[in-house]
Amino acid sequence: MIDLNHGSGATCDTDPRRFNIVSDQVNGAVDLMLTQRQRAQVPRTYIGASSIGRTCLRQIQYDYMAVPKDEGRDFEPRTLRIFEAGHKGEDIVAAWLKDAGFDLRTHGADGRQYGYVQLGGRFKGHIDGVVLRAPISMAVPALWENKVLGSASWQATVKKGVVRSKPIYAAQMAIYQAYMDLPNPALFTALNRDTWELYAELVPADPPLAQQMSDRAVHIVRACDHQEVLPRAAGDRRAKVCAGGHDDDHWHPPCAWQDRCWSRPS
Ligand code: SF4
Repeated sequence: MIDLNHGSGATCDTDPRRFNIVSDQVNGAVDLMLTQRQRAQVPRTYIGASSIGRTCLRQIQYDYMAVPKDEGRDFEPRTLRIFEAGHKGEDIVAAWLKDAGFDLRTHGADGRQYGYVQLGGRFKGHIDGVVLRAPISMAVPALWENKVLGSASWQATVKKGVVRSKPIYAAQMAIYQAYMDLPNPALFTALNRDTWELYAELVPADPPLAQQMSDRAVHIVRACDHQEVLPRAAGDRRAKVCAGGHDDDHWHPPCAWQDRCWSRPS
């Protein structure tokens, strides 16, 4: 047996250069696994509720039609890690709420998430859960929607509320409330992935917004059926919606189809 007591002569390797090599190797292996796992996923063949509120119709259309992304614009391993943290964070918040006395249902008896299917399976969504009973004053049943956010995004949500701060999430919830027949205000929670603080808000149903988003989905599906490319959301590829960045307080990730989109005449 190795004697690891002080004075035994056995030493730990504390050379930071060696640590960095091991760290690089471990992270390289994890990144490779995440990338391979992502590539093995079958592309989605429907418009998801989480994307219907995006600014650019053409971008939603490219995504729906599984048009290959521009070279080098697949999700970076760093982004895949953040996605995974989001999924795990959702499980953690669900467990917190249940332990705190909420009767929260996240999956049906078949083990699948609850959801809706429209337009013959071409417009679908899966909800995070339904609150059936709550230890706070709120009408039930109610939709539960959770997001895991970085600190700056979380602070903006706390400051302005989810509807003003994150219109894409507002559109997603409005659609869920309409199609899942959950007209009571939704319980929206946001976990700060840096500090683990939890923000919660009750979000009233918005039938006009739900109708607008539903009409958008129909419009996109029809355009695809007729091989029609929908208009761009911007007149210049340097616009934030295309190149990425903050625009009127809204964060746009860089569009994954910039080269394809702007190489077309219109
Ligand atoms: S590059 Fe801009 S206009 Fe083109 S699809 Fe992407 S977001 Fe829309």
